[in-house]
Amino acid sequence: MHAEVIAIGDELTTGQRLDTNSQWISRELAVIGIPTSFHTTTTDSLDDGVAVFRAAIERADLVIATGGLGPTADDLTRDVLALVAHEPLELRTDALAAVESRFSRRAVPMPESNRRQALFPRTSRVIPNPDGTAPGIDIEIPRLTTGTSRVFALPGVPAEMKVMWSGTVLPALASCRPGGGTILFRRIKCFGAGESAIEALLPDLIRRGRDPLVGITAHEATITLRIAARGRDEAACRARIEPTEDLIRATLGGLVFGVDDDELEDAALAALTRSGGSLATAEIATRGRVATLASEAAARSPSACLRGSLVLPDHDAATAVALAERARRETGATHGLGIGQVGVVDGVEQVGIALVGPHGTRVEEHRLGGAGTVRLARAAKTALDLVRKSVQSGGPAS
Ligand code: ATP
Ligand code: MG
Repeated sequence: MHAEVIAIGDELTTGQRLDTNSQWISRELAVIGIPTSFHTTTTDSLDDGVAVFRAAIERADLVIATGGLGPTADDLTRDVLALVAHEPLELRTDALAAVESRFSRRAVPMPESNRRQALFPRTSRVIPNPDGTAPGIDIEIPRLTTGTSRVFALPGVPAEMKVMWSGTVLPALASCRPGGGTILFRRIKCFGAGESAIEALLPDLIRRGRDPLVGITAHEATITLRIAARGRDEAACRARIEPTEDLIRATLGGLVFGVDDDELEDAALAALTRSGGSLATAEIATRGRVATLASEAAARSPSACLRGSLVLPDHDAATAVALAERARRETGATHGLGIGQVGVVDGVEQVGIALVGPHGTRVEEHRLGGAGTVRLARAAKTALDLVRKSVQSGGPAS
């Protein structure tokens, strides 16, 4: 089975916006073992759309398209699919009810143009959109030559597209693959080493065609290893995932901080809270990133013990230790985390991080690598990781 990914929109072909949907979708397809043979980007025009979809269904078994499902006159994906499939568009009452309810919940009358979003080629299925008005279209289109091609059309808005992918497209692909069954994912979250370093530690795991497949992605210095297992049912998938997860944990040890939706700040705060401690933070170099991450973690977990956070202006000259002590003193927390002034050592910017606890102090210097927001996020996460590491290792600041 080979796939083609189509991105639709004048804003893409004119270069006003970069097509990130196709990259994301192709990676998702690779994880479940479906190679992508073509990426096609086209305009909002009906003729271009028809030409692109005609070519795609002839050369790919699976076509995933994004964009052009909105209510306006230039959103023509549904019309294109009807033409290519030689089917009329018909009104689906269930889809219309879903679109209408999006408006009624906000107490806004539905514009007449939104009725278009309930029009579907006759043999197609509706892909629900929990986060927007535009439902997606799932249709099997016969080829001129022989056989059919399965087409999934999703909205262009990346967040909506991703939710619909996970909710509907992925399960549909799992069940239509040879042998049927289901697909289960398990994400192992790591921090403290780069993507390539982690890859080098697990050379045989991140190999194409391995079963179960392991993919690696990085987001703001958090590395995610995603295990994808196919099996008869969920239990069978879980049984396949387990040995791979064990191997990853055994190899990466303390680099692994959590699974699935866990974030580093959750792990740090949970470790400290479990040991009976509480945290307060004070930062200069990270512009409030530590305060944001810590308070988000505290909001997600009511038992997490965050006493408060201090954000000081860039020009403040306090050291990390002084900041950590101040945070602790002012809030009564058992532990103070301080992120101090940026200094330049041998031409490299370095930031000081300190954790002060009831039994001592731990100080680290870190290079500020990366650009822009990634660099701040990395520094903030490195600071929070010091909390996790200290508590887990039982060191001086634990
Ligand atoms: P709706 O009109 O309901 O929002 P739609 O299916 O018509 O949905 P578009 O109008 O094509 O979607 O795009 C909506 C938004 O998503 C725009 O901001 C657009 O720039 C963005 N977008 C569309 N396609 C892509 C893509 N391939 N990659 C990244 N962003 C995209
Ligand atoms: Mg559009």
